[in-house]
Amino acid sequence: MPALSNSTAPPPKVLVTGANGFVAMWVVRTLLERGFSVKGQVRSAVKGEHLVRYFKDHEGRFELVVVPDIAEEGAFDAAVMDVSGVIHMASPVSFDVEDPQDLIRPALNGTLGVLKSALKHGRSIQRIVVTASVASIVEDRDTPTVFSEADWNTQAVRDIEANGAAASAMSKYRASKTLAERAAWDFVEEHKSEIGWDLTVINPPMIFGPVIHEVTTPSALNFSAIAWYTCVATPDMGGKPKEFILARRLCWVDVRDVAEAHVRALEKEAAGGKRIIASAGSLCWQEFINTANALPTKHTLPRGFPDDEMPTVAHLLYDATRSKEVLGMSYRTMEETTRDILADYDARGW
Ligand code: NDP
Repeated sequence: MPALSNSTAPPPKVLVTGANGFVAMWVVRTLLERGFSVKGQVRSAVKGEHLVRYFKDHEGRFELVVVPDIAEEGAFDAAVMDVSGVIHMASPVSFDVEDPQDLIRPALNGTLGVLKSALKHGRSIQRIVVTASVASIVEDRDTPTVFSEADWNTQAVRDIEANGAAASAMSKYRASKTLAERAAWDFVEEHKSEIGWDLTVINPPMIFGPVIHEVTTPSALNFSAIAWYTCVATPDMGGKPKEFILARRLCWVDVRDVAEAHVRALEKEAAGGKRIIASAGSLCWQEFINTANALPTKHTLPRGFPDDEMPTVAHLLYDATRSKEVLGMSYRTMEETTRDILADYDARGW
């Protein structure tokens, strides 16, 4: 399957869904910097105003499309007609819903809707990249585990099937991502003789980095950026206990590297048909706190628990080898990400 090349004239156009989000804004920016044209989907014109302002200098290569309900049948029929690639990123990220269907329905129907529209109307589409998550890979384990693209999270889906609204908040989000990703692969398998494009899925862990989407207060940050703000840049660490700050049970990646992985997933022929983990490594919040304290900033930072030992063994890790081999990825360090986030906060007066 041919991948997209930005050396053609006119440049290929890429549809990015959920374009006003934390990660998607960086994806749009990276695509434009690389010479692509971009059609950014948002739910209302108002939500697109910041994008139009932010990308005004890109020689008419950025346009907006409003799709109010991505889960509606045929929602993307018109939007896919003139694009060569799609990055489907819109999906609810929330850990306080009662009904799991509030997450599952838009995640699943949004993903399937994009693929169905591409099947029917996307004659010039060559590749579709879907943003999944390590949520569709990881399961809770008692012992330290390294997960890879061969792993599928069945635990969260079973929790929803058994417990419905009483399932854990984490299961609800993880199930939405798992069911959406699973459905995407099944759709491609079922329609492989009819489609002229292929599918790549990117699976990132917690994403941190400077913010370019529209946010005026820290409390309006998306869930991963607010977690970083709370644990690393709030003097009382949001009241998080020592065991949490010192645990090594999460992995992370810089938002600009996630954006780069998505763009390379469009560009690299070998990425077709693959799920690809994009992860910089494990984190212990105390490591980020120590890193932040070693950098110049106007911010009043917590000290955390600098005299306590941090665990050396990660409870879970994601094998990012495929991202390095197929996409040629290398990942920003904790120091670079921390420095740039703090500079962003300082510039905003937070
Ligand atoms: P944001 O919350 O910043 O952006 C989410 C985007 O999806 C927004 O454009 C939002 O639109 C849209 N969206 C949310 N709910 C719906 C819905 N019900 N119907 C239509 N559109 C909706 O999230 P992130 O940038 O953090 O996440 C982007 C993608 O990356 C998601 O698919 C997420 O699952 C995935 N991801 C994120 C990680 C992270 O750490 N941030 C880690 C791994 C994966 P609106 O503004 O109108 O609500």
